[in-house]
Amino acid sequence: MRTLILSLTLLLIAACSRESAAPARAPVASAQTPRHVVIVTIDTLRADHVGAYGYTNARTPTLDRLAREGVRFDRAYATAPITLTSHASLMTGRYPPGHGARHNGMRMDLTTPTLSETFAAKGYATAAFVAAFPLDRRFGLIKGFQTYGDTMPRDEAGHVTNERPGRLVVDEALAWLTSHRKDRFFLWVHLFEPHAPYGNPADPAQASRSPLARYDDDIAEADVQVGRLLDALGDLRSQTLIVVAGDHGEAFGEHGEISHSLFTYDTTLRVPLLFSAASIGTPAVLNDAVSLVDVAPTIVSLAGLGRFDADGVVILPPERSAEAERGSGRERALYAESFAPLLDFGWSPLRTIRKGTWKYIAAPKAELYDLEQDADETRNLVATEPARAAELAREVNQISTSALALTTQAPDRESRARLQALGYASGRPATGGDRPDPKDRRELAANLAQVASGELHGAALERALRDILRADPENPQANLRLGYVLLDAGRCAEAVKRFTIAIDAHLPSADAHLGRAACEVSAGQIDAARRTLAAAQTVEPDNPVVSANLGLLLSDNGQPAAAIPLLQRALSIDPDLHQARFGLAIAYARAGRRGDAAKEAEELLRRLPPGAPQRAEVERLLTSVR
Ligand SMILES: [Zn+2]
Repeated sequence: MRTLILSLTLLLIAACSRESAAPARAPVASAQTPRHVVIVTIDTLRADHVGAYGYTNARTPTLDRLAREGVRFDRAYATAPITLTSHASLMTGRYPPGHGARHNGMRMDLTTPTLSETFAAKGYATAAFVAAFPLDRRFGLIKGFQTYGDTMPRDEAGHVTNERPGRLVVDEALAWLTSHRKDRFFLWVHLFEPHAPYGNPADPAQASRSPLARYDDDIAEADVQVGRLLDALGDLRSQTLIVVAGDHGEAFGEHGEISHSLFTYDTTLRVPLLFSAASIGTPAVLNDAVSLVDVAPTIVSLAGLGRFDADGVVILPPERSAEAERGSGRERALYAESFAPLLDFGWSPLRTIRKGTWKYIAAPKAELYDLEQDADETRNLVATEPARAAELAREVNQISTSALALTTQAPDRESRARLQALGYASGRPATGGDRPDPKDRRELAANLAQVASGELHGAALERALRDILRADPENPQANLRLGYVLLDAGRCAEAVKRFTIAIDAHLPSADAHLGRAACEVSAGQIDAARRTLAAAQTVEPDNPVVSANLGLLLSDNGQPAAAIPLLQRALSIDPDLHQARFGLAIAYARAGRRGDAAKEAEELLRRLPPGAPQRAEVERLLTSVR
């Protein structure tokens, strides 16, 4: 425990026109109007990995049954391949420019009306239980929910994790349901299983299986959790509208992409979308292209609550949808975007419009696809269909420009660090000039995404990082990450060089300093390590890991009295930084303050879980100072 605590939030590298609404009509509440609404979103779920969508290897019996008994939309699309952005569209019925959360870590515009507010205002009990940090309450989706379960568990070191198993999310939802069975309720449950890393690739038993096989395992687990939730509804089921959607897909090499967020091909935009309720009528498969912005107005309409002002339209029951289409007098155009290239890398954003069989992607090198002939989007027809491309370019520009006004919505430091740990990072901003087209950087982006996915370890991770550095030698995050790979392998001579490049790039975190200090300590260069950690304090004055490491270093090198305030400060910021509390107890003992040492050791025993392996060591310390 006396060795330096390496930063526990290791930086992972970057890479997770208003339609005219349906004609107003008096809300009709019938005996069949559902009393309750349950929305389940499954993160990173590709439609074509669900049995109901034709996947023969699927293990998705719950989703398949919902599809059989309800309405399955065969062509449903997210508004962005990004968790927060997509969920905000689903919950507001607005395209991203209308709700403002253009990327993970950006706060939603809190004046945008939400589904949950609408239901809360009508007297429904409202609750959400989410499985990952991008949907944390600070980003605005909490609005309208009386209960918002977004507490992530702590890991063994006491640090809050970025995601949690669906089992825990559903446990919480079931506990809430128990006390609200008599209420009308609006419940949203979010499951994160299919998001990378798939399964646990560090487990040798799983590592031999392909990423796709592990992805399917995760989907099967999410399906089991949906099943638990639906089973718990019991006799309420017949009065409940159930909606299941993916928030975006996942790329496994299509278009040179790994993971999601960079491109706006249908690989990552097409999602499953299922509605199930007695009031919808006969089961159906609908082939109209629909967007997740249609979910909110449709739910409000089906629940008999009238009209919900949105970019989307009412898509159920089917005859209502056809009526809306005719009423608008023109063919529907669906918008989607990704501003991740801009915000993560300083590259051009991508804006997409889908109309009829055509899909246009606004980019420095624009793309146009005839989806009927070319569903995989491989033959760019911009040169042969210039008039059509120009018309769609005008339409896309009416919905959003390529610029983004970053105001106060930029993520805070903690949010940024936690998003980086999930693979969403903020890179260097571009400085002037034309921005690169993400297509021309796809290899670099795929390498970065693979590194960020948590799928790679050891030699494979080192190879991917060296590939990135060949293309972009000064990339600070790749240097930082490679530094940690080398440090883990005991190769400090090169690690120090990597950390130094990252430090000189002025990253907004102290992780590179922590890595270099660890190497310096292992080489016996105590003064150098002390200087490095002092520099880290100026970069991140409120990082408890930095203060704790400096305290441990001083305590271990004959200055326990100087160490005590540093360790106290670390604990005032994070009381569950257990190594710091152990170090503080030892520093007290070394300074001759046995009573204080015993008090801290007792406090640590109170905080450690019953079976924690560290307990024995703490008890030995306690015995020695009593
Ligand atoms: Zn997502």
